[in-house]
Amino acid sequence: MATQTVLVTGAAGFLGSHLCDLLLNEGHTVLGVDNYATGNPANLKHLSGEPRFQFIEKDICQPFDVGRVDTIFNFASPASPIDYSRLGVETLLVGSAGTINTLDLARKYHANYLHASTSECYGDPEVHPQVESYWGRVNPIGPRSVYDEAKRFSEAAVTAYNRYYGVNTHLVRIFNTYGPRLQANDGRVISNFVTQALRGEPLTIYGDGLQTRSFCYVSDLIDGIVRLSRSEEHTPVNIGNPGEFTMLECAREVLAVTGSKSDITYLPLPQDDPARRRPDITKARQLLGWEPKIALRQGLELSLDYFRACVAAEVQAA
Ligand code: UDP
Repeated sequence: MATQTVLVTGAAGFLGSHLCDLLLNEGHTVLGVDNYATGNPANLKHLSGEPRFQFIEKDICQPFDVGRVDTIFNFASPASPIDYSRLGVETLLVGSAGTINTLDLARKYHANYLHASTSECYGDPEVHPQVESYWGRVNPIGPRSVYDEAKRFSEAAVTAYNRYYGVNTHLVRIFNTYGPRLQANDGRVISNFVTQALRGEPLTIYGDGLQTRSFCYVSDLIDGIVRLSRSEEHTPVNIGNPGEFTMLECAREVLAVTGSKSDITYLPLPQDDPARRRPDITKARQLLGWEPKIALRQGLELSLDYFRACVAAEVQAA
């Protein structure tokens, strides 16, 4: 494929930075935008000498124009439950005004457009595994609503720009993802369990630990997303790993991979925490010929050096 100029918003985030790496490796020129609300400059440090990468510090909630681009990946948003709880209004704004501003750019430059949506659109689902045709069960005023409803608004906006303006849009519903550059202190289950195990602290299970999640390794996810961006599909597509684990099973995997002797401790379950989550990936398989290759055990092993370095840096800073 011909090389392109690609805009990635949320470029300093976990997924945004991995996406930039893949696009640069393919030979494209990448403009990375981030306001560092939750992004981390360290995620892009290795690109400082890369002539095809340009970083622009910017809040996409204000209209902006970076010049002609061929493709836009809209990944800007706080994404972990503690981050979007802390940044509630910012999360609503980036998922509404921010999304519209990036769609306006796509419309202006006739750019291909992909928006990072989420399995949170399904809320606490009655349908299992979750298929794209399921509309979801979301509490519109609960603690997760700032994220869930912003992402649902974004899906409506992206679909409208396709329907009314003919923008070539794509929507990926991302399920739980992990790997190097996942923020060690973002409160998510994988970052918490792995850093707790490495510090020899008890692993904190919320509730009875029987709730489930399905964890995708980052390289599998980015591969699926890039394939979707080059497809003709405009309706949402689940990308995730269907391997489903209870949080107790997840804790046991982490203890096995780290060799840690940490105990398990039980804390209250946060409000509206989905009881189960697993992607039906039939659509991605059929449309994109995609499926994940890396199981949880292997992905945790691949992530270990990164989390060890995070924990070592904490010890040094203390
Ligand atoms: N969780 C847990 N212990 C932790 C962090 C999270 O048991 O230290 C649980 C949480 O209650 C949820 C699941 O792990 O059921 C996944 O939480 P996470 O914050 O990673 O993402 P979510 O899928 O809820 O957005």
